[in-house]
Amino acid sequence: MELIYEKSVPGRHGVALPANDVPPAPPLPARLQRSGAAGLPELSELDVVRHFTTLSRRNVGVDGTFYPLGSCTMKYNPKSAEEAAKLFTPFHPMPALLLGGEPLVQGSLALLQHMDELLQEITGMDAVTCQPLAGAHGEMTGIMVIAAYHRAKGNKKKYVIVPDSSHGTNPASAAMAGYEIVTIPTAPYGDMDLDAFKAALSDEVAAVMMTCPNTLGLFNPHIKEICDLAHGVDALVYYDGANLNAILGHVRPGDVGFDVVHVNLHKTFGTPHGSGGPGSGPIGVKAALAPFLPVPRVVKLDDGTFGVADDTARSIGRSANFFGNFGVIVRAYAYILMLGREGLIEASELAVLNANYVMSRLKDVYELPYDQTCMHECVFSASRQMAHGVHAIDIAKFLIDRGYHPPTVYFPMIVKEAIMIEPTETESKETLDAFIAVMREAADTAVTDPAALLRAPVTTPVSRLDETKAARSQNVCFTG
Ligand SMILES: *Cc1c(COP(=O)(O)O)cnc(C)c1O
Repeated sequence: MELIYEKSVPGRHGVALPANDVPPAPPLPARLQRSGAAGLPELSELDVVRHFTTLSRRNVGVDGTFYPLGSCTMKYNPKSAEEAAKLFTPFHPMPALLLGGEPLVQGSLALLQHMDELLQEITGMDAVTCQPLAGAHGEMTGIMVIAAYHRAKGNKKKYVIVPDSSHGTNPASAAMAGYEIVTIPTAPYGDMDLDAFKAALSDEVAAVMMTCPNTLGLFNPHIKEICDLAHGVDALVYYDGANLNAILGHVRPGDVGFDVVHVNLHKTFGTPHGSGGPGSGPIGVKAALAPFLPVPRVVKLDDGTFGVADDTARSIGRSANFFGNFGVIVRAYAYILMLGREGLIEASELAVLNANYVMSRLKDVYELPYDQTCMHECVFSASRQMAHGVHAIDIAKFLIDRGYHPPTVYFPMIVKEAIMIEPTETESKETLDAFIAVMREAADTAVTDPAALLRAPVTTPVSRLDETKAARSQNVCFTG
């Protein structure tokens, strides 16, 4: 497809302004003036509208198609939550950060404070900040809070333990906070090997980072014991909340023994992911860690109004501007209130039911490395299809031709040729059945006509890209 610059015709324009009949403003200082024209494309309004409308139709999103991207929880984003965010557009809480501005935005501050309370209730934690802008950012903030806690106690800590099934952001955040990473293998039962964990635990361990259920979609039966053992050496336990959707309303991380949790509002609470953002990754902590949370914090004052506390004595400081992604927080707030307690519980139950349905309807044609009841997602392997020269990536590309966003592939990395499917609670049985039929068609085609899978996708403007090059160069080139 042509770039908008390539469609430019010299002299063509969208709007014709009348001749200037007021005195011109004094010119900018010479050093601020352009030396030549800006080089913008010259087009009619219709050219521009068609260009961007065509591009927008090539976007893939959950509003257009089933999006079973495992670990990402791509559930439907209710439009009523969008409306709620729109209502708050003029009331960004920013004025509360200016001297005397709090009275202008009491409603927004009340919302933020109530959101903190709701997330405390949901996660079983004592204090929450909504500042972090994504799950990974929440992890980074959480690990910095943990490090501040150990420093304040004079603890000499060196290591952070992660299971080998963990999301890459876990070890990355811990490493950025200055810790060395100890990786524990996964046992045949599909979770962190308990004996290997015990062997790795020492006084020098600062934290253990667990995703629960883990990235294989399995719930760890030893989680309480792991928390207790960690606490025995004054290590803190971090709950990666990306999979909170699976246990919402059933188990609270704080009750099991976790000390810090992040919540991905854009996963669990149905706010848009955007393309890589804007997200929101609030963290919750136990009381002993609350003094280290980022500032400013919204507080309820004795007279019932809301203010901003900026006590920096022990805080790690700011982790984001303003109060985080306020618009996203409003959407998640609306979502939580809309579903209510019973609705959130039902959402997680349906998410688990849907994943088990997909798993049981596909496990005769795809290898299921950990064959047990799953939580909200299931992980297959394309290892059987490899006998025909077909890999997980080829099945993913075939799904694009059939109108689906592919599932997550090649993650978690401990499963060879992983295909990780997370249907979420918002999909109907009809949608799941149609998807299952296409997944079965792909498995059949791998046997009868593997070359057809290797050619896919054939319905897209470009077929397979050189993915390394596409990540580095914005002007992507075709490879086939
Ligand atoms: C998505 C995810 C993260 C990171 O969250 P972002 O909001 O994408 O930064 C961390 N851990 C797991 C298991 C995830 O699925």
